[in-house]
Amino acid sequence: MSRALYAIAFGALLASATYAQDKPPLFATTKVDGTDNVYTFRYQNSLSMFVVTPAGVIVTDPIGYGRPQAVVTYLEEIRKITDKPVKYVLYSHHHFDHIAGGKPFKDAGAKFIAHKRAKERLVQLKDPHTVLPDETFDKKKTISLGGTTIEMVYMGLNHSDATAVIRLPKEKLIFTVDTVPVGQFPGRGMIDAYPLEWEDFLQKLYVMDWERLIPGHPGVGGRLGTKQDVQNLLVLMQDASAAVKKEAQEGKCWDPVEKELKLPKYASWPGYENGLPFVLRRYCALWGRGT
Ligand SMILES: [Zn+2]
Repeated sequence: MSRALYAIAFGALLASATYAQDKPPLFATTKVDGTDNVYTFRYQNSLSMFVVTPAGVIVTDPIGYGRPQAVVTYLEEIRKITDKPVKYVLYSHHHFDHIAGGKPFKDAGAKFIAHKRAKERLVQLKDPHTVLPDETFDKKKTISLGGTTIEMVYMGLNHSDATAVIRLPKEKLIFTVDTVPVGQFPGRGMIDAYPLEWEDFLQKLYVMDWERLIPGHPGVGGRLGTKQDVQNLLVLMQDASAAVKKEAQEGKCWDPVEKELKLPKYASWPGYENGLPFVLRRYCALWGRGT
C-alpha cells in the first residue's frame, strides 16, 4: 500500500473508532443485573424500565417525544423477549419529554396509570401525542401481575408535582425520573421544580427500601443510581440554595447572581457548566422573589 493510501485507510479507521466511541447506538435494551425479568430500554438519551412477566408486560415511560419511531422500536424490542401483551404503562411524571408517544401501547390494549396530578395537567394541556391516563392514584398504587409486584408511590413535590416513584420491592429497584441525576450536576430539570420540597423528597427517598435506582436519563458511564447519589444531590441542593439565598437577600438576583456566582465545589461534576445557570435561576426565583 502506498504511503498516501495507507494514511487514508488509517485515517478512516481512526475516524470510525472515534465515531464508535462518541456515538452510542441509537437504542439499547439491557437486562438489569441480578434480576430475572427487569429491563431498561434506552433511546438516545432517555431511559425507560420494563418488566416481563408470564401474564404480560409492565412498561414505564414511552419516551417518544418528537420521535414516534422510538415507541415502535420499544415494542419491537419487547417482542424479541416475549409475545405476552403489554398490560400497563406507568407514567413517571407528566413531562412530555418522557411520556409522549404511548399510542402503540394504547392500541395494544395497555392500561395507563399516573399520579392524579399528572392526569389533571394532561387533561388541561391536551398534548396530541400524549395518551391520557386511564387510572390515577393519590398516595400509593400496587400492581401485581404474573408474580411481580410493582408500586407507584407519591412522596410529595420535587422536580414536578406529579412524580411517581416506581418501586420493585423484591428486586429493591426504583425507577424515578428527573429527581436524582446520577453522577451529574442538575440542569434543565430545575426549570419548574419545587426546590425546598425536593429536599424533603430526597430525605424520604433516602430512607425508602431500595438499593439501585434507574434514572430517566442514563447515569454517567451508564451506571444505575445509589443512595449515595441521593445524598450527594441533597447536599448540592442545600449548598446551592444557601449560596443564592445570601446573595438574593442582598438584592443580587437575577443578573449579578446569574452572571457571577459559581459553585466551585461542584465544578468537576459532569454537566456543571451547562447546568449552573438553571440552578442559579431557580434559586434566584425562590430567594429573590418567593417563587
Ligand atoms: Zn421532567
